[in-house]
Formats: sequence, structure tokens, C-alpha cells
Amino acid sequence: MPDRIMRVETLPLVTNKILAYYDANARILPWRSPPGGTRPDPYHVWLSEVMLQQTTVAAVKAYFATFTQRWPTCADLAHAEDADVMAAWAGLGYYARARNLLACARQVTQGLGGQFPETEDGLRALPGIGPYTAAAISAIAFGRRAVVVDGNVERVIARLFAVKTALPAAKSEIYGWMDSLTPQDRAGDFAQAMMDLGATICTPKKPLCDLCPVAEDCRGRAEAEAFPVKAAKQPKPERQGRVWWIEAEDHVALIRRPAKGLLGGMRALPSCDWVGEEVLPPLAGDWQALGVVTHVFTHFRLTLQIMGLRLPKQPTLVFDVQWWPIDRLHEAGLPTLFNKAAMVACQG
Ligand code: SF4
Repeated sequence: MPDRIMRVETLPLVTNKILAYYDANARILPWRSPPGGTRPDPYHVWLSEVMLQQTTVAAVKAYFATFTQRWPTCADLAHAEDADVMAAWAGLGYYARARNLLACARQVTQGLGGQFPETEDGLRALPGIGPYTAAAISAIAFGRRAVVVDGNVERVIARLFAVKTALPAAKSEIYGWMDSLTPQDRAGDFAQAMMDLGATICTPKKPLCDLCPVAEDCRGRAEAEAFPVKAAKQPKPERQGRVWWIEAEDHVALIRRPAKGLLGGMRALPSCDWVGEEVLPPLAGDWQALGVVTHVFTHFRLTLQIMGLRLPKQPTLVFDVQWWPIDRLHEAGLPTLFNKAAMVACQG
């Protein structure tokens, strides 16, 4: 049985093993530069880090390619139409990120001469950049020493040091251990090495400890899946609502959601506020129940009933709508929830 506590003199050795592992095994990702090469474009690092918040690498790759082809520089993105960016973001979820993305690109372009700040403090002053993203950009794009802790890093550290405290209370302890491992030089490579280790070897289930470069140093290896310890989850509140599918002349009525709030600024089907109130349809007619979709948001689970009305002619409505061709609905940039509802309506 190894010591439960890792000795201080061991820490630099652990760091070096992880860096050596990275030099030989770094994942090749479109927003990265190979270890030891030139530093990646801060615009690419920032864009990928914002996209990767709450989203997998596999899902982000296609979006990153689309964004960088369409808007190759931060200035190009800053000058884009809001609606185009929101539509290009559709499907990635957490739409506040897209609104902050635009606000940040505009602030960097108009207020900072197109240059991202190098320091964590400077980066944190920008819209949508929190402590994690600021540390990641500062370390990876500018080579500054910063302590970078994402979900993968959190898991590796919790296992490596057998952190007994449950998350989220364990965050400061985990940050402290990551701080003690982060080298003065190559902090960006070290952060990416830890992310890779978590994504490919120290996976949430069945970690590949036999392939791990720090297996002999790991204090939690014998019971790896028990770490990180997590506090019991509270069930998500349930909400219900209705969405209106109004179809006429092979078109469907879409609205633009208010700029602020959930899915703000996105194109959508008209719907109620999802707070469970009994709502009347937006116009009189022979409404049919077409089906139900469920969707899980960060803070609640939503069940939406889809009500459909098919009319021979496009009616005048009391709110602004855009009549969108149903056979081109995939180009509307609908958020996933409304895409699901549209698919059910089209089958109904
Ligand atoms: Fe993770 Fe296993 Fe490596 Fe420990 S030995 S860091 S549990 S992969």
C-alpha cells in the first residue's frame, strides 16, 4: 500500500513524467500547436475554450472548423451579424456563450486593437471569460504560468492525490494540488497534458492505469472510480409548457426569442414561458396535439407539448413572425429543443 500523502520532493518528478508523456502522446486538435512548437493563435485558443465549456471535443471540432472558415480572425467575428453567429452556434447549447462570444470579439477588436490580453486579470475583464478560461488562454496562448483546472484535470488530481473531500467543496484543494504541480515554464503544455491524460487514460469509467505515466505515484489508483468524490445530486426541477407549430403554404411561423434570457436571440417556434401556466393558443383554430418532447437544461428538465395548426393561408399574427420554408428548416439555426419539436411536428 503506498503512502496516502505524496512527498513534496516527488511533485516535480510527477510533473516531468506528465510532460514527457505529453511530448510523446499529445492529441492533435485543430486549435492546438504541437508540444514545443510555436504558440497557437490566441483567437483559436479562446474560441475553442469557449466552445468546449460543457461540450465534448468531438462535438466542438465541426463548429470550430465552421467558425474559423467563416470568420478567420477575431475582427471578422466582431463584424459578423448577431443572427448569423447565433445560427452558426445552434446545436452547441448554452447560448449565453454565443452572445458573450460576440461581445468579447467586439471588445477585443474595438477596445484592444485586436489583441487579447496576456494576463488572467486582463482576460477575466472580457465578457464570457471566467477564471478557468482566462487561465487556459494565458497559459496555452501566451506561455504564462497559470493554474488550469477543467473537469478532466479535476478528476486526474482527485485520483492522483486521493482527495477525500466531496466536490464542489474539494475545488480549492484540487486547485492547490494542481498549483503545486504546475511548472514555471511550459504551464500551457502541462495544462494540456493533464487534459489529455484525463480524456484518454484517466477516464471517468475504467481508467487505463496500466498505461498511465504516473501510476506508481497515484494515491487513488486502487479505487480510482471512487474519485472525485461527489456530493449527492439533487433531482432537477420539472417544468412544462407548450410550443406552437403554425403551418401554412409549406412554411412554418418562427419567432426571434428576446435577447435576454434562456436561448436569448435565437430563432424558435412560438411558445409559452414554461412556468406551468395554462396558456391560450396565439390564434383560434383547430389545434391538434402533435406530440411531446423533453429537454434537460442546466437547472431544470422541460417537457413541451407540441400543438399544431395547419392553415391554407398564412394568417396575420399579433406578434412578429418569419415564415420559414419547412423543407429548409435545418438552415434556420434552431436550438436543439426546437429542432426536436420540429421533427415531431413534421412527423405528426
Ligand atoms: Fe488515473 Fe489510474 Fe493514472 Fe491514477 S493511475 S492518475 S487513477 S489513470
